[in-house]
Amino acid sequence: MAKTIQAIRGMNDCSPTESPLWQWVESKVRNVLQSYGYSEVRMPIVESTPLFARAIGEVTDVVSKEMYTFWDNDEQLTLRPEGTAGCVRAAIEHGWIYNNEQRLWYMGPMFRHERPQKGRYRQFHQAGVEIFGIANPEIDAELILLTARLWKELGIEQHVSLQLNSIGSLEARKNYRSALVEFLQQHIDLLSDEEKERLEKNPLRILDSKNQALQDVLNGAPKLLDYLDEESRVHFAQLCTLLDQMGIAYEVNPKLVRGLDYYNKTVFEWVTNALGAQGTVCGGGRYDGLVEQLGGHATTGVGFAMGLERLVLLVQEVNHQIALPRAVDIYMVYSGEGTTLPAFQLAEKLRENLPHLRIMTHCSGGNFKKQFKRADKVGANFALVIGETEAATQQVVVKDLLAGTQQVLSLDNVVDYLHKAF
Ligand code: ATP
Ligand code: MG
Repeated sequence: MAKTIQAIRGMNDCSPTESPLWQWVESKVRNVLQSYGYSEVRMPIVESTPLFARAIGEVTDVVSKEMYTFWDNDEQLTLRPEGTAGCVRAAIEHGWIYNNEQRLWYMGPMFRHERPQKGRYRQFHQAGVEIFGIANPEIDAELILLTARLWKELGIEQHVSLQLNSIGSLEARKNYRSALVEFLQQHIDLLSDEEKERLEKNPLRILDSKNQALQDVLNGAPKLLDYLDEESRVHFAQLCTLLDQMGIAYEVNPKLVRGLDYYNKTVFEWVTNALGAQGTVCGGGRYDGLVEQLGGHATTGVGFAMGLERLVLLVQEVNHQIALPRAVDIYMVYSGEGTTLPAFQLAEKLRENLPHLRIMTHCSGGNFKKQFKRADKVGANFALVIGETEAATQQVVVKDLLAGTQQVLSLDNVVDYLHKAF
């Protein structure tokens, strides 16, 4: 036998038994987004590399070590590691946001060269939202309400909690950065080599260090919230008030800064304890400078992205109530001279009249016994049986596979009968 070829590490197949749950999660996501009046956009999976370098920032983990980049003749291209950059690029390119508000969403694969583990893959999927042209905190609150509604729909609301912070303006962050660096320099011996490098390039990232000794010290570090500019302070206070009034629980986490450069003001993450180390299921925030930074007219932005693998894992972990649709409702069984055509015709007639039913036609020959086995295996409720007698008399045997009963119906009555049965 020829040698088999395997999938790339960290890039998963979705099996026929897993896809119903994925479809269920995706349809919940889609329905909730649409129920808020948001519009879907679809962007390419490949973009030119400088887009990500400029949008996400050269010194972030994503750009500095996680991107899949290659040359296409003399152009450097990258498999998208996230959706915001491409969405902003498209919005500017097509004038979607020129003097116009937009509430957009997308869903699809993202690529990051990370060490694969549970909840962390090299090809993973995100659903994301980007809102352009709305500056006030009401829309930040709406995004959080929307995600909270989705958690409820997915049955995971008891297992996620909201972390919230404001990282202020660029100016405020600069001031804070100096204070933080000064503080960290007094504890330099606690910093790993990587963190020492971050101290120069991106010191705010040190706040989410995994090092417990450093974390203890960081509790005494200057707090970003104390350095906020007035506008960001008011924005954050209004957001918190609206969330309180709407009954959304959150924890203000002064150490939450998010990995990407483009955020300002509001940042948030939904986290869970149920997935081990990969606890963030959704992260987002405001990025009022990004559109201008990428060459568009100054337009505010706010959005989030959620990891679908982590949501699927979480649903599997905590929600055991889901009734996923059966792949097959009715199995069409036929055997003998002249039975193929009436079976095919009946199956098509049912699909025409009862489009919500899933009807599988046997197709692969063999005796009745083999075919009934197959019907059981695919989980069908009913088998419709056409033998030579039925073919000759324009009839069909309707077998209820769960109840173990059966009856003979004329072909003309089958649609009515099944309509009532399902
Ligand atoms: P993490 O801290 O877990 O690396 P991140 O801050 O890099 O996450 P974002 O860039 O904010 O993640 O992406 C939003 C969401 O996408 C994350 O909260 C997570 O649910 C999901 N996600 C990010 N990277 C991966 C990955 N490699 N595999 C699976 N899901 C991912
Ligand atoms: Mg990451």
